Amino acid sequence: MARLHEHIANQRLDKIHKMTTILVQDYDLIAMETLMPKNMVKNRKLAKAISDAAWGEVARQLEYKTRWYGKCQVKVDRFFPSSQTCNRCGFVNKATKDLAIREWDCPQCGEHNDRDINAAKNILDEGVRIVNAA
Ligand SMILES: [Zn+2]
Repeated sequence: MARLHEHIANQRLDKIHKMTTILVQDYDLIAMETLMPKNMVKNRKLAKAISDAAWGEVARQLEYKTRWYGKCQVKVDRFFPSSQTCNRCGFVNKATKDLAIREWDCPQCGEHNDRDINAAKNILDEGVRIVNAA
């Protein structure tokens, strides 16, 4: 049983290594939100998804690999309203604070937003803004 667990852990680590290497090789800028996985794991709904993604390990690998490959990593403040801001028009929709809302229509421009994709676009935009300001 212990050997099986070790085997699974190694497979998972190997997958994370391959993914982070591809990301760092393919992209010059990686923008990440500074989430707090330990606190988020306290939220039962999020716990499984975050644990499965081994978020901390992904972040750790991206950090040193961006340095190795001479790429740029930007951390976007976790208080930046990435999932509440419509990426199309910039309207901040406080109603989307509820994590159960996975998709929403912007009350200002009508854009249909997928929570995660919209947030990812906002994090990238904010990362680019931070780099350009520096
Ligand atoms: Zn909008």
